[in-house]
Amino acid sequence: MSENVCVYIHVPFCIKKCSYCDFYSTDTLSFLPAYVKSLQQEIGIRTRLSSPSAQPFLPPKKSRTLYFGGGTPSLLPLEAVKKILETLFTSYRVAKDAEITFEVNPGTVDRLYLEGLRNLGINRLSIGVQSFDAAKIKVLGRIHTIGQSVDTIEAAKAVGFDNIGCDLIYGTPDETWENWIQDLKRALEFRVSHLSCYMLTLGPGTFLKARHEQGCFSLPDPETLSDLFMATSVFLGQNGYEHYEISNFARGRKNRSCHNSNYWQMRSYDGFGPSAHSFDAMTDKGQDAGLAFPVRSWNTANVSAYIETLVSGRLPVRESEALSLQQQVLERVMLGLRTSDGIDITAVEKIWGQDFSRVFAPLLSRLETQGLGVFETGPGKQFHLTLSGRARLDNIVEAFADKIL
Ligand code: SF4
Repeated sequence: MSENVCVYIHVPFCIKKCSYCDFYSTDTLSFLPAYVKSLQQEIGIRTRLSSPSAQPFLPPKKSRTLYFGGGTPSLLPLEAVKKILETLFTSYRVAKDAEITFEVNPGTVDRLYLEGLRNLGINRLSIGVQSFDAAKIKVLGRIHTIGQSVDTIEAAKAVGFDNIGCDLIYGTPDETWENWIQDLKRALEFRVSHLSCYMLTLGPGTFLKARHEQGCFSLPDPETLSDLFMATSVFLGQNGYEHYEISNFARGRKNRSCHNSNYWQMRSYDGFGPSAHSFDAMTDKGQDAGLAFPVRSWNTANVSAYIETLVSGRLPVRESEALSLQQQVLERVMLGLRTSDGIDITAVEKIWGQDFSRVFAPLLSRLETQGLGVFETGPGKQFHLTLSGRARLDNIVEAFADKIL
């Protein structure tokens, strides 16, 4: 049986760096044509090497999700998107009903472009709205106006996208619930199928972090942030959105992001492009045979080095690490605690060889007594956090880590 993976394409181009962003991206758009060529080359080489076609004639790996993220994938010309998709469809057995997501930034697309994406088979859009408040958009250093965000959502709906997600950010300087709820209310008007609400983090080396360190503005205190987090969940819940991951809300289970859900369940993913990460979860077959641990690897975070490496016929992998047993358990616990489905205890026990409920008995019982977590027994044993528990996620993860490491 061949493995099922999710596939991620990193498009590392942005028109301008946003003030809070520490993702790898470049504004040197002249690299675009060479990047596309190199990307196709990387996909070709890696899928040939990793497919069981070291034993030729075996089919390529299956994939149920393709995801174009960035950076700003919507800076890719449609012709380039077409080429990349063709390469992916020849390198993977992509399921007929695969979820194919494309991140779009307002201000970089028009109706014709969105129609083109739809005709190429993209069936899910993730739109980087971030806010419907012009002052907040300015602080975040976004390139677009509120009008462009609205036009993008409306055009996406008009050309037939029915699976649309919008990203929003809260916890910006001096943000109050009154500001934030206006953003949420505006987002609800569009009845999109998915909302990602991210708490602002100031990445190292970002413009906003430097300004904050210079004392130019203050951020909401932890208590306010926790209140914003909980109130967001309650408000969106009342409006039909299921809070299925710490930052993600879907209009029903069918609108959850399959691609990201695979990450949270620690399934394998192949990431292509500069700075993209990949994860080989190893199948049961691999573990039963006593082979190595799961491996995470990542590409060089430099588009020009990425292109040069591939031109010289080598792969642009910068580093890789094998996950120890403890790391695997800790990651499964951390990721599980972020989701409403919780920790899959059966899966953890299978890897760890220890009785989860026994090892964590005092902690689980304390969390339950405090109303922070729920332990569910039965064939699908799991432990998930309540909303109050998720608001204290970091402390709870630490408590689990103390027992694992
Ligand atoms: S558009 Fe996205 S990836 Fe690009 S700089 Fe802004 S936040 Fe970062």
